Amino acid sequence: MELNVKYMTRNDCFTAGRKIAPKGLMVHSTATPGVMAAEWFSRWNKSYKAGETNRQVCVHAFVDDQGVWQYLPWNHRGWHAGGTANNTHIGFEICEPGGFSYGKGSTMVGYNVSKNEAYFRKAWQNAVELCVLLCKQYGLTEKDIICHSEGSKKGIASNHGDVMHWFPKHGESMNSFRVAVGAALNKTSTPGDVSTEIQVGDVVEVKASANSYYPGGASIPTWVKTGSYHKVTQVISNGRTVVKGGKSCVLLGKKVDKKNGRESAGIMSWIDKDALTLINSSTKTEKLSKANKYYRVQVGALSKKNNAEAILKKLKAAGFDGFIKFE
Ligand SMILES: [Zn+2]
Repeated sequence: MELNVKYMTRNDCFTAGRKIAPKGLMVHSTATPGVMAAEWFSRWNKSYKAGETNRQVCVHAFVDDQGVWQYLPWNHRGWHAGGTANNTHIGFEICEPGGFSYGKGSTMVGYNVSKNEAYFRKAWQNAVELCVLLCKQYGLTEKDIICHSEGSKKGIASNHGDVMHWFPKHGESMNSFRVAVGAALNKTSTPGDVSTEIQVGDVVEVKASANSYYPGGASIPTWVKTGSYHKVTQVISNGRTVVKGGKSCVLLGKKVDKKNGRESAGIMSWIDKDALTLINSSTKTEKLSKANKYYRVQVGALSKKNNAEAILKKLKAAGFDGFIKFE
């Protein structure tokens, strides 16, 4: 999934600047045949107050068969639901393909299912991957995903039919969408679950087959792959796995000379764990030297994740590094 980020700084929703703690995701579709994700920027990056547009609306992202265009920071309060879901939900629009029109209500007239099937599958897949990325980032599951029409039934969104006026044409529903997200979430590692994976201090090699640091990220120069190994500097941030382009990443710091093992200043880039081969594990050597025991300082045991995060923040502000463990 390609993630492009370009904030709609001219939109009044952006300038309003309200933040949310995302508790769910809301799936919309555009009801505008044939207008793709990148094209929405010039349509919506306008100010209602300044009289440049007659609508007060903004979503976090648009998704099409090519990828995702993010137009608001994820924790920015969007104007997508027409209800209280704006206070809790990240909203994104799946772009509908062209070649049909709208009749009464949300009836698609002249929609050619077989012609649009390939587009639908790609856009669907990108939407699934976006949901996986956001679920990991905000500690959500597929159960926290609803569409606009489901939000309307719950009384937290305006009376719109999306996406249930469209998905069933391709034999899908919000339930099958949630199942797809759930399956993809289970395939990838869960947040914080780094105990059996790459650890800080491990020496790794970047696979020759890896092209970019993570999906949608910068391309990896050849010297990074062939010249040296790299030392893992960081595996979590704010108590969570760092996810970029839908993939769990680790930070590579110092580079390690392949011949003499000498360390020197390195690339300092986050990289998809799947792009790495473990050369030398720091934990294996630790386990071998049994003398390596630690005194651990526990600050609190809390039932609510938010409270734990608040304490970690205080701890960090006071100059201590720490992490959250859920057990
Ligand atoms: Zn909608």
